[in-house]
Amino acid sequence: MDNFYLIIAYVLSGVVGLCVGSFLNVVIYRLPNGMSLSRPSSHCPKCKYQLRWYDNIPVLSYIMLGGKCRSCKTHISFRYTAVEIANTVLWLLCALLFWKESIPLACIYMIVCSIFICIFFIDLEHQIIPDRFQIMLSVLGIASIFFDADYGWVSHVIGGVAGFLVFFLISWGFEKITGREGLGGGDVKLAGAVGLLLGWERLLLGLLISTVPAAVIMSVALRGKEGEGRQFPFGPFLVVGFGISMLFGAQIISWYLSLLGL
Ligand SMILES: [Zn+2]
Repeated sequence: MDNFYLIIAYVLSGVVGLCVGSFLNVVIYRLPNGMSLSRPSSHCPKCKYQLRWYDNIPVLSYIMLGGKCRSCKTHISFRYTAVEIANTVLWLLCALLFWKESIPLACIYMIVCSIFICIFFIDLEHQIIPDRFQIMLSVLGIASIFFDADYGWVSHVIGGVAGFLVFFLISWGFEKITGREGLGGGDVKLAGAVGLLLGWERLLLGLLISTVPAAVIMSVALRGKEGEGRQFPFGPFLVVGFGISMLFGAQIISWYLSLLGL
């Protein structure tokens, strides 16, 4: 009976994750452009064809329409389907990894994954992280303290303060020395909110995971004359590192400590 209940929970997490993923596309497209999330209903940006319900089924419609608008045959970006699949997989992972430990914690982490997906694509395209995401992450971070058996409240509070302060100092120092903005204010607030959510141990791990690929890619992209003055979003790297740390951090940290014989 227990296993039966668990399987139902996993399947539901995947299905709800898929539907939420479809909504995230609306958020990613409309929020940075200052558009309403509820109106008008979804339409083709080129020919204004209003999507019917059968054009709007996650993943399936994209496959059936061959990635083209039903009316004008304009190519539809694969990003929409990628967002839906990513959110489904992440919600399923949250359920598999945390449902047995704490159902509220699994649900909090699901919402966090969805926020991370929004930040990833919005920062990548617009180089901004809207404040409402950090506010939501902070609220979820405070709520998670009550359900997180692995990391106590002290770890969460230190994580929040340290994340904000360290990023603030790096951002301030970088600007003083180079005269250009390295880390945006959005990144500073993000590190603080995520520190509160994950605790300082997993914050540190997430930073380590995200800075190595970020440094490599940035040094290539910003090299030479072409790269001068080019803005580079750090947010997408951060949320990938933080996401991995949130889902697998406890295992990675205890594996690393066992290597050291601790
Ligand atoms: Zn169209």
